[in-house]
Amino acid sequence: MDNVTEKLLECFGHRKFKSELQERAVRAIARGVHDVYVSMPTGSGKSLCFQLPAMLQDNKVAIVFSPLLALIKDQIDHLTKFKIQAESINSKMSTKDRERVINDLRSMRPNTRFLYVTPEQAATGTFKSLMEHLVKYKKVSYVVVDEAHCVSEWGHDFRPDYLKLGDLRELYRSIPWVALTATASAEVAKDILSNLKLLQPVAQYKTPSFRKNLYYDVIYQNCIEDEIGDLCEFLKKSLKEDENVKPKDKSAVIVYCRTREQTEELAHMLNKRGLNSLAYHGGLKASERISVQERWSGGECPCVCATLSFGMGVDKATVRAVAHWGLAQNVAAYYQESGRAGRDGKPAFCRIYYCGKERNAVDFLLKAEMARARTPEQKQRLQKCIQELRTDGQILRGSKRFADYFGEEGPRCGGRCDVCHDERAVRRALDQHQRRAMS
Ligand code: ADP
Ligand code: MG
Repeated sequence: MDNVTEKLLECFGHRKFKSELQERAVRAIARGVHDVYVSMPTGSGKSLCFQLPAMLQDNKVAIVFSPLLALIKDQIDHLTKFKIQAESINSKMSTKDRERVINDLRSMRPNTRFLYVTPEQAATGTFKSLMEHLVKYKKVSYVVVDEAHCVSEWGHDFRPDYLKLGDLRELYRSIPWVALTATASAEVAKDILSNLKLLQPVAQYKTPSFRKNLYYDVIYQNCIEDEIGDLCEFLKKSLKEDENVKPKDKSAVIVYCRTREQTEELAHMLNKRGLNSLAYHGGLKASERISVQERWSGGECPCVCATLSFGMGVDKATVRAVAHWGLAQNVAAYYQESGRAGRDGKPAFCRIYYCGKERNAVDFLLKAEMARARTPEQKQRLQKCIQELRTDGQILRGSKRFADYFGEEGPRCGGRCDVCHDERAVRRALDQHQRRAMS
């Protein structure tokens, strides 16, 4: 046991790292030589990557940028539970409290190990002068940008204030920076490195996109007789008989639809065929949405037919199948949505029920989005999505596709998608689909 693993147990009560990647990121951040970029899925323990190394440096404080006061509160509560002093400076606190925090930080040997702030706070005079003091007296271990995708317009929650952090990075070049995100897309990664002005070479720790327990295929709706029957069969077959498991660990499935009407219709038809299903979409009252989500995650109802609004914050590990009734918006969205399957590492199935009409609908949405695009990069990116759509059934398929998209070395999928499993059969199906679509 070395110093790092000792601290892991002593400070956080963990006997081992959650993954090899987590350990490598922790050690790189602890060395403090390079800026570090970490991209790992939600729940994989990114916080520890910067919390543990800070515990190896006495009388230094790590400055952590986080987008929301609620997230900041969670993290501070978590650290406090382990008797680690973490503080915040924000507009919601009393003057007295703020003075207490600042006085500690300005003292010779601060007790504060983590200072959490929002990017808005970083622009205030109070923070700027505090930061200058901390840097001057070498009291900063490193600066952390959590939820770093907020700095990218490609991310879901772009926050203009995150962009200003890049200036701070340039101002204090002697301090290492750490950026963390759960977003895997190559565009977002590029934006994070350039907008935060991280110093090259940046040490990067990324979970590969390849998930070996997921099996991907595509069904052409116009090539089968009874598409609802096929969907129902697929879902029922994926669900396990769970006799002796806790309700929350019961297996479940999700069907993503493009419209509210579709969610209602499909749920209705699946119910008629004996698969207990609920519809979920933005048109439901908040209380109804919560109830659907709870009944699904609590094991009461195995199937949800939902629009894309379903999934944020859903962390059920035992999702055995994700079906897309039509296409996802783009590859990144499909990766994320289908990736809700099989979080427990056991086999799970991802299937697209594809029809040409759906493609036209997505095409239309993308074009509308393109008309609103502000930057050439944005336009280019949307253009790429549209082209991908136009190549018809070859899109959104299997792990190779994701690897290409995320700019990784192609993994050997080993028959886990229909193309690798039986390419000739896929070509036949695609042929048939295209012939029927034309007639
Ligand atoms: P992320 O930010 O990647 O979404 P978190 O940092 O919130 O994930 O961590 C998710 C959970 O994993 C937390 O409950 C955390 O305590 C736990 N965790 C982190 N590292 C370890 C570890 N080495 N061993 C066990 N649990 C861990
Ligand atoms: Mg996190």
